[in-house]
Amino acid sequence: MKPTLVLVGRPNVGKSTLFNRLTRSRDALVADMPGLTRDRHYGIGRLGDRPYFVVDTGGLEPAAKDGILAEMARQADQAIAEADALLFLVDGRAGLTPQDKQIAVELRRTGRPVHLVVNKGEGMNRAVVAADFHELGFGDPIVISASHGDGVRGLIDAALAPFPVDPEGEDDGSGGPKVAIIGRPNVGKSTLINALLGEERVIAFDMPGTTRDAISIPFERNGKNYTLIDTAGLRRKGKVFEAIEKFSVIKTLQAIEQSNVAVLVLDASQDISEQDAHIAGFALESGRAMVVAVNKWDAVDSYRREQLKNDLARKLNFLSWAKFHYISALEGDGIGALMRSVDGAYAAAMIKLATPKLTRTLQAAITKQAPPRHGIFRPKMRYAHQGGSNPPVVVVHGNALEHIPDSYKRFLERNFMEVFKLQGTPLRIQFKTARN
Ligand code: GDP
Ligand code: GDP
Repeated sequence: MKPTLVLVGRPNVGKSTLFNRLTRSRDALVADMPGLTRDRHYGIGRLGDRPYFVVDTGGLEPAAKDGILAEMARQADQAIAEADALLFLVDGRAGLTPQDKQIAVELRRTGRPVHLVVNKGEGMNRAVVAADFHELGFGDPIVISASHGDGVRGLIDAALAPFPVDPEGEDDGSGGPKVAIIGRPNVGKSTLINALLGEERVIAFDMPGTTRDAISIPFERNGKNYTLIDTAGLRRKGKVFEAIEKFSVIKTLQAIEQSNVAVLVLDASQDISEQDAHIAGFALESGRAMVVAVNKWDAVDSYRREQLKNDLARKLNFLSWAKFHYISALEGDGIGALMRSVDGAYAAAMIKLATPKLTRTLQAAITKQAPPRHGIFRPKMRYAHQGGSNPPVVVVHGNALEHIPDSYKRFLERNFMEVFKLQGTPLRIQFKTARN
């Protein structure tokens, strides 16, 4: 599982500057996807090829007790409780403040590992800056400059050092598709899980060894194996499964990462919210296969159904490749069809694409529409091969490919997806330019 680093500190110490620096290397394709709203507080960072989650708790104002600030504070508290390590930022230019001391007391209480980080340290004497903050009692602070990048790599190195590196995909696939049921609170995830697991044979149920482990529940349906990746600490209570923890963005992110297919559950009786779109955005960014379950279809009339379908087409247009199902988890309606789409999305995500057919498809796409010239450069694509699965990655080789615009990259993607009839998974294209 990816370690989670959580940034805390009073407002203006540089948390969001550090967050942006850590999460900057984004897939350009996802970054300019029209309609996609991203949650700027959760991101994926990379140290070399080692990924980790980063959470920015925003301004930690210990005084806020109600309203939207209190809700933010609640989410910050939850992120702190679920952190693998806390990066406690202070401002080297402003020096130690009473608010820093107050936050230090609270962080000590959490029992999580804390790294004290003195930011804005560029051009300052490290020893002098560090001395100022010693009395916070977290040992030697790490001095960085989030805006210049000084010391950031060393900080992340130190923060990640205690956590084991994930073994690279030794999944033999025998457990069937790994499915994460995701969505905001109250959309009906637990109800859907019970509809799936209720009458079906739950093969085994491994309890987590530590809180870091997510529970996976293998089950069988119509003679096929699946593994459910839990997002909320499912426990069996009598005949039904019950989510014992409240909604957690970090657990959702981890479940998406560990799954092959994410089932995004939406509530038909409510408007599509920003939180829905954020969760969809997380899944999109991860490259997972996806199926959308619009739940509580039993509870809405035909007028609302029409309205909702229009709303979905507009707000989730970046998921045009995913199948949408209109279901009632409560009444068990539409679940068979939903699971057939899960199967289809898994198959699409795992597809093996033969090099000759990929290259022929590429040539045909170029004939239909050649990439635009860029000044004196004329990008020339020569051949394509598959570079990965879940999501399928098509590596295109040629010359001057760095001059191909994103719009053309998207055209190629759509073309590959149509020709190979990939439904339910995104597809990614990587350009490899020959050096000469
Ligand atoms: P946050 O409220 O903790 O998220 O803080 P921000 O990231 O918004 O930064 C607050 C201010 O500090 C902004 O004006 C930043 O440009 C500035 N800042 C952030 N990091 C550094 C740094 O390393 N050095 C200096 N000199 N300023 C910084
Ligand atoms: P979760 O927080 O996403 O796990 O949501 P729950 O499964 O706990 O469901 C939240 C509420 O929605 C409960 O009161 C459920 O009974 C109700 N609910 C779930 N699925 C449906 C459905 O298909 N139709 C209707 N009408 N209500 C549902």
